[in-house]
Amino acid sequence: MTAATTGEGRALVLFSGGQDSTVTLAWALARFGSVETVGFDYGQRHRVELECRLVIRDKLPTLSSVYAERLGPDHIIDLAALGTISETALTRESEIAFADTGLPTTFVPGRNLIFLTFAAALAYRRNCRHIVLGVCETDYSGYPDCRDDTIKAMQVALNLGLDRRLVLHTPLMWRDKAQTFALARELGGETLLDLVVEDSHSCYLGNRTTRHSWGYGCGTCPACELRAKGYAGFLCSPDDTGPSYDS
Ligand code: ZN
Repeated sequence: MTAATTGEGRALVLFSGGQDSTVTLAWALARFGSVETVGFDYGQRHRVELECRLVIRDKLPTLSSVYAERLGPDHIIDLAALGTISETALTRESEIAFADTGLPTTFVPGRNLIFLTFAAALAYRRNCRHIVLGVCETDYSGYPDCRDDTIKAMQVALNLGLDRRLVLHTPLMWRDKAQTFALARELGGETLLDLVVEDSHSCYLGNRTTRHSWGYGCGTCPACELRAKGYAGFLCSPDDTGPSYDS
């Protein structure tokens, strides 16, 4: 058994308040003895995700004594500069569509590379060996900075640049959204699943007024469509948690 499965080790989770990062945080809390969270404020069009993350952090310790014991401090890093150089639908009032590159206009170029660099600098200072993030190759929108090869290359680059042995974990990399819902239930039962549905936020338009069976959202943006489809798939095969983390 490795240290990571015995509740030892210090981890830093990139936590946005979305569905994926919420399940990723629960995954980290099940593995590591001390888990801190980091969020990035880069001038997102809708602040609702940043608000949701605080609600989730407040509720998690009420679900389990292990969560209460292990959940450590939260950090917010101001990345306003990223917003100023990103003319995207996530940071500007422009339509969500697919650009000539084939990528949706929600793509913020290099976002995860920048997030990981800042997270690694923070992990270095906080003495966290493990960095955990909820990126996923399976049903993502084609973002190149979510790919497994990108993350592995970043691990090498960060360790060379920091002279550390940081380990980057991506438990959702090969899971689709249906399997992510199933993982939430496996990790924390119905209460964690309810928290993910009720309090995590995915909608690109920031809609927190329309409640569907799968959570709040406009129901029509790409993030809502993905989440709705994932939840429907989860209901069809609720026990399929996808490939094991190590596969
Ligand atoms: Zn939406």
